[in-house]
Amino acid sequence: MTATARASTSDATGARTAALRAAVARVVASGNCSGCGACTLLDPGLRMRLDEEGNLRPVPVDSQPVDTQPVDPQPAGSPQAPVDSAPVGPDALRRFEEACPGVTVRAVRPPSTRRHPTMGPYLRVWMAWATDTDVRFRGSSGGALTAIAAWMLETGQAARMVGARADTQEPRRTVSVSILSREEALTAAGSRYAPTASASRPEALLPGTVMVGKPCEVSAIRALTSRPDGRRDDNPVLLSFFCAGTPSQHATDRLAAQLGSPAGTPVTDLWYRGRGWPGRFTVQRPDGTSSDASYDESWGSALGPATQWRCKICPDGVGESADITAADFWESDEKGYPVFADGDGRSALIARTERGYDIVLRAIEAGVISVSTIDLDELAAVQPLQTTRRSTLAGRLAGARLAGDSVPHFRGFGLLALALPRLREVVRVARGTYRRARDRRAAAGLRS
Ligand SMILES: Cc1cc2nc3c(=O)[nH]c(=O)nc-3n(C[C@H](O)[C@H](O)[C@H](O)COP(=O)(O)OP(=O)(O)OC[C@H]3O[C@@H](n4cnc5c(N)ncnc54)[C@H](O)[C@@H]3O)c2cc1C
Ligand code: SF4
Repeated sequence: MTATARASTSDATGARTAALRAAVARVVASGNCSGCGACTLLDPGLRMRLDEEGNLRPVPVDSQPVDTQPVDPQPAGSPQAPVDSAPVGPDALRRFEEACPGVTVRAVRPPSTRRHPTMGPYLRVWMAWATDTDVRFRGSSGGALTAIAAWMLETGQAARMVGARADTQEPRRTVSVSILSREEALTAAGSRYAPTASASRPEALLPGTVMVGKPCEVSAIRALTSRPDGRRDDNPVLLSFFCAGTPSQHATDRLAAQLGSPAGTPVTDLWYRGRGWPGRFTVQRPDGTSSDASYDESWGSALGPATQWRCKICPDGVGESADITAADFWESDEKGYPVFADGDGRSALIARTERGYDIVLRAIEAGVISVSTIDLDELAAVQPLQTTRRSTLAGRLAGARLAGDSVPHFRGFGLLALALPRLREVVRVARGTYRRARDRRAAAGLRS
């Protein structure tokens, strides 16, 4: 290549990088970033870092660190990242705009599925739990996701899994990891209510991967791996779970401090739930002592109230883009509200694609999970946060827009149709959102 040709290639790459970075910066500045990490797969010059509010955000590698997300070493045998060393590609901006959950989320319509208005597309739904008592105990609810992913690894149906677990050096932190064995999968079982960016793992794009991720991570990876011919069979298998939102890292740090482990003091392990259902938020120290808090105290009072803005306007907390989605299948009280009494874990499991349905049927046949059929309305009844957030979302989006905020484009979720029967409540939500957004903008010196 001549010097002139080299210069013009590098100019084009520079312009593409600048355009992509500007688009990413707009999403972050608007507060619509979910911290999924997918943009870092399109631009090798971006990394996920905790910002001052304790949320993971993409920043240029050379910017001043607040805190870099701890990066787990690649296990032996991990494939090379397909895009990690590549320059920003010619279609990177288009792919970003299709995949970034802070720009757009489209409801998917996989073949042969029916659609529930709040629970999304499905072929079949079960109550399910891992037959291995250890996996069921360690799992967040029934351990079904860990059981399925570990079985796929053991039987060679998957070459690797992407999941999230406590950082070994600093267990107050959560890291997204590449997992190659059943034992590692078990270490990563259980929900972690803290920032981690599983869609930043390059292996998530590869055939032979089974990825477990939050709905925003899974929708981003689905968009990045979708093919024009619609074929899915050599794409990564995507497993997701219901998600009420990602709390700031500061909420974990504060709760650990309240329980006697302030920042800077050594902690050997920290988990949010699991090891029982729902299990307790627990901090373990090197002297063998530990402190804990109930699910109500931890999620209800400390973590849940600290979720980021993007999660409050999420149209898809139910993992619509996954092949299989799990949720807590709570018992309910006489008024229909979920009861968080400790018991043997049970998940609801939704097969959302033909491929997911086939995997669940084979996992049942292999004795990996036990199931009984349930109705999707039964699940919706014990998921009030998911049904209310989606049904009143049109109001929240309208309130934010009226105050001058920009919000992502959500397509195909039927938000207006869901809002109409609850109009009074939707108007109240719109007013409240408008007032809060207007006051925030005024405090920041922005015009409404
Ligand atoms: C942020 C968050 C919000 C949640 N909100 C809801 C809700 O609204 N309704 C509800 O029913 N359940 C919610 N859950 C809990 C979870 O959806 C259920 O417990 C589900 O049934 C888990 O299924 P399981 O027992 O089969 O999972 P497990 O077998 O325990 O597997 C969980 C998998 O998720 C991965 N994982 C854990 N934390 C994270 C994370 N932060 N980011 C990415 N991957 C992670 C783990 O590595 C593991 O592979 C939430 C969980 C999280 C992390
Ligand atoms: S939502 Fe995900 S893809 Fe979009 S800017 Fe944030 S980290 Fe990047």
